[in-house]
Amino acid sequence: MQLSTGDLLRAAVAAKTPAGLAAKAVMAAGGLVSDEIVLAILNDRLSKPDVAAGVVLDGFPRTIGQAKALDSLLAEKGQKITAAISLEVDDAAMVARVSGRYTCACGEGYHDEFKHPSTAGVCDKCGGTAFTRRADDNAETVRSRLAAYHAQTAPLISYYDGKDVLERLDAMRSIAEIRQNLHAIIVGVAV
Ligand code: AMP
Repeated sequence: MQLSTGDLLRAAVAAKTPAGLAAKAVMAAGGLVSDEIVLAILNDRLSKPDVAAGVVLDGFPRTIGQAKALDSLLAEKGQKITAAISLEVDDAAMVARVSGRYTCACGEGYHDEFKHPSTAGVCDKCGGTAFTRRADDNAETVRSRLAAYHAQTAPLISYYDGKDVLERLDAMRSIAEIRQNLHAIIVGVAV
């Protein structure tokens, strides 16, 4: 099971909940939503039974405050982090990757340069033709998101290294190699 705080926040924005309304402008500008809002949304989601067997958190934690809160939350449940995976990509490659991506309504991801559907305009997975791009996946906002990453999220690398759970992954490789490396890490730590 994979849980993305970005997906949870986008759902809150779409549903116009108070948290979504507060997060909307920050997300559009590529900044980080407050720890308070992100933790409330995640805490709520982690209390559902489908995550009891373990979960891959995507895009969380993004600050030391979130990491510490996650440690306490898990400790209360008698659980702990088994691995923290750092996917490492050059900034310029990251801008090209994120600003060229788009998604089918079924969830399958594509890229203008690196991953085309085999028939142009038709999803390989579901045959659908409705594709969307995230509003924050433009080069300017991606640069702000990278600045937030370097200022607030990169310190988590030494935080998790200190806890001996850090897995660094060279994500400059191909999609297939990264998928294989990620799979090996996740299978290796699955409880
Ligand atoms: P993502 O889908 O992970 O790229 O996240 C999209 C946007 O949602 C980010 O640029 C932030 O504005 C916000 N966001 C997602 N996860 C977090 C988080 N853990 N902490 C703060 N903001 C977040």
